[in-house]
Amino acid sequence: MEVKIIGGGFAGVEAAFALASHGISVTLFEQKPVKFSPAHSYSGLCELVCSNSFKASRVNSAAGLLKAEMKKLGSLTVPIAESCSVPAGGALAVDRKAFSDAVTAKINSHPLITVEKCEVTEIPDGNVIIATGPLTDGKLAESIQKVLTSANTIGTSGEMLHFFDAAAPIVTAESIDMNTAFFGARYGRGEDDYINCPFNDKADYEKFHAALISAESAPKHDIDKVYEGCMPIEVLAKRGFDAPRFGPLKPVGFTDPASGRRPYALVQLRKETREGRLYNIVGFQTNLKFGEQERVFRMIPGLQNAEFARYGVMHRNSFIDSPRFLNSDFSLKNNGRIIFAGQISGVEGYMESAASGLIAGLSLARRLQGKEPLNLPKTSMLGALTSYISDESVKHFEPMGANMGILPPLEIPVKGKQERYQALADRALRDLEIAYREIGGN
Ligand SMILES: Cc1cc2nc3c(=O)[nH]c(=O)nc-3n(C[C@H](O)[C@H](O)[C@H](O)COP(=O)(O)OP(=O)(O)OC[C@H]3O[C@@H](n4cnc5c(N)ncnc54)[C@H](O)[C@@H]3O)c2cc1C
Repeated sequence: MEVKIIGGGFAGVEAAFALASHGISVTLFEQKPVKFSPAHSYSGLCELVCSNSFKASRVNSAAGLLKAEMKKLGSLTVPIAESCSVPAGGALAVDRKAFSDAVTAKINSHPLITVEKCEVTEIPDGNVIIATGPLTDGKLAESIQKVLTSANTIGTSGEMLHFFDAAAPIVTAESIDMNTAFFGARYGRGEDDYINCPFNDKADYEKFHAALISAESAPKHDIDKVYEGCMPIEVLAKRGFDAPRFGPLKPVGFTDPASGRRPYALVQLRKETREGRLYNIVGFQTNLKFGEQERVFRMIPGLQNAEFARYGVMHRNSFIDSPRFLNSDFSLKNNGRIIFAGQISGVEGYMESAASGLIAGLSLARRLQGKEPLNLPKTSMLGALTSYISDESVKHFEPMGANMGILPPLEIPVKGKQERYQALADRALRDLEIAYREIGGN
């Protein structure tokens, strides 16, 4: 019994370690140092290509909860990150070289893991985990396209493998002020799937427009310059005062129930999931800095207290249309020997990628050993993330990182954000513990 893993980044090393820890031999293929992507430069495994932070440590935050859950399931990278940490306030940040070296040493010294330094150009036979990251390209990308095309028995007509992410921000439903915003469709056609945020006063729109065109953009990496197809909202706004009002902020076909008038401009938010806990700000793909997104988009009436589950981004990112293709254990729906993990599977971020590798590895180990599946509770961050990437009700799939908005609401509502997050974290860890114990703890 042997598993091949392509890519020795965050997802690949976690999957390799999880499988090997359960007695399964692994060959881990890593193209460095034979070939480097435009973002990679260090020869070690599990390289941090940009920030050296794994975000908040405290357990009553989404990032902290994710790490706590990963540790419970035997993560390789979280304890190593803690041992290589550098002072960073409440965040877990690392010395990137020490971190990569420690992960590499652990993988190289495992008797059941063989590391092969070469570029893989075709999906190999047998059980394989593809963890080649957000910059997957070339012949391997073509091979992935082919496999997705033959697995596409449901007849998805959209793109199966994306190479660029142009995403609008996503906010939590509970943070939208429904005294100002209202449900409804343009001209009353269709279901009330949209929440509408009306600018009733021209003066408010003027202030918003001025803030939008002067807000600070995030620096672009060289590799991101290849994409020109999708216009950021701030660029559209710079084309003219009225340009957004003839585009995504078009008010025609709406009457604000509060004022009884047609708004001057109107922002629409579309449900992300069937349950409607998250909403996407339609047409607001953006390259603004995250802090600027909060500042400017909270000027939209009804979004003054918006909690951002995901910020808008415009960057190179290879990811598959996961809800159409993946099971919650990251295996391909119609070809279970092929598994995707990491950023290519539709999760976003260093630790989320590592987490997906951990789950993919543990799930495959259990399957190969004839054990019952790893059924992660949806109330846990790991369970919520895996159900999001495999949720067929998500029509316009965007990669997702850990955030409290994807957890089901508490049975008994708790007032106050910190208190609510603490209760969500307590429930997540308790449910994960119970589920893990029930299946024998490994
Ligand atoms: C420019 C840039 C900046 C980013 N900044 C951040 C950030 O600040 N914070 C954050 O959380 N996330 C950031 N990300 C996202 C980040 O890449 C992921 O969070 C994380 O690295 C993804 O893990 P992964 O295992 O999916 O891929 P990676 O960590 O990229 O690992 C993929 C590995 O596969 C190898 N590989 C690729 N193709 C092949 C092949 N054909 N054969 C063999 N090996 C192959 C690569 O060399 C690499 O080692 C950034 C991404 C990019 C591109």
